[in-house]
Amino acid sequence: MLVMKLKLVPNNREIRAPTVTPHFYSMKKLSFTLALVLLLPVLSPGWGFFAHKTIAQLAVYSLPGSMQGFYYRHMGELVKKITAPDERRESDPAEAPKHFIDMDHYGSDPFGAMPKEWDKAVAKYSADTLRKYGTVPWVVTEVKEKLTEAFRQRDTVAIITLSADLGHYVSDAFVPLHTTENYDGQLSNQAGLHSLWESKLPERHIADYKLRSKPGSYLKDPQAAIWQVVQRSYGFLGATFDMEEEVSRKYTPETKYTYSHKYGKTRRAYSDAFADAYHEKVGGMVMNRLQLAPTMVASMWLTAWKDAGSPDLDLLMKKPSKEEKEKLASELKLWKDNQLVPQNQLLAMQKEKTVERPDEIKSAVDMAPAPTEPEPAVAVPAPAAQPAPVAAPAKAKVKAKSDDGIKQKTKVKAAKTDDGWN
Ligand SMILES: [Zn+2]
Repeated sequence: MLVMKLKLVPNNREIRAPTVTPHFYSMKKLSFTLALVLLLPVLSPGWGFFAHKTIAQLAVYSLPGSMQGFYYRHMGELVKKITAPDERRESDPAEAPKHFIDMDHYGSDPFGAMPKEWDKAVAKYSADTLRKYGTVPWVVTEVKEKLTEAFRQRDTVAIITLSADLGHYVSDAFVPLHTTENYDGQLSNQAGLHSLWESKLPERHIADYKLRSKPGSYLKDPQAAIWQVVQRSYGFLGATFDMEEEVSRKYTPETKYTYSHKYGKTRRAYSDAFADAYHEKVGGMVMNRLQLAPTMVASMWLTAWKDAGSPDLDLLMKKPSKEEKEKLASELKLWKDNQLVPQNQLLAMQKEKTVERPDEIKSAVDMAPAPTEPEPAVAVPAPAAQPAPVAAPAKAKVKAKSDDGIKQKTKVKAAKTDDGWN
């Protein structure tokens, strides 16, 4: 059976013997797992690409003016690159654990038990164990430090690449199912829950969400901030599983799932009808995480920038044209009025541009001055990288209380739902 599971567990997630945590699922449920592993759930890692891209865009809007022009210039690239860490999982076995942390592995009071600092956590649990059960909060602070160094070096390419990476890992920490061993509901007869929660629900209901995020702010303690995010995500797990079970009572296997057959395998996914019914229960939670994540991403970027001495980012790019400034102003207004979706300005919903800029990923010092063509009228802002006036090394050599909005109301209602989320 384990052999079967090896093939079925998606996305390089490490195979581990399930440790039953009675809080989330029962032994009775566990027995169903064995019968269901033959069905292959469709699962995407971390937030779906759609949500990650949305978070990248909203994070740019959540920045202060001193950073926003630079980030807006590179917004198309950020939106594109924010999914790169998930793509790396295919080729890099060390990548997968960076996206999650299975807190339930660490007992009934995991946040009390787990030292927040990496060295202390290693001393208590060993690096191997930490890597096995996920390292997302430490990866966030590590990448934040790398970004700080990239700002110090005035290395535009590194700044954008690391900002995208940081945005990705921070966003993953906002997903409840990234904090449990039962990450796909695979241990509780709820396989497929991961993709349902983080992809299908936001993709189907984005128009219902309030996407205006709060402005980012300086984080005195980024490590504490990301741990708060993880803890809050973990707190939502009970509802995530329980509501699925509750909604399931009104469905039969035929109405709850859809099945598709491809390459001799049967894939199972939650049906649209079930997704919508489940969304009525947990949609407020999905929106809450999607709304808070951009603020934390912007806060991490801002903190890295300030820690680097607040370098003048306008010197790293050619002056924005009048059109670019107007376009940003209009997008900010749409964002504030929650009109990005109806006005088709959400980049994740737009078709990706097929033409790539050849200078997109060049090192800062290698780059010729950017072409002076105007910004495109619609769609993704030009990702043209800009020359850094300050001489920078070809490659930044980098080493490896504001909060996530916890003080905001946790019960957020999607436009047309009673989320039932407590
Ligand atoms: Zn991820």
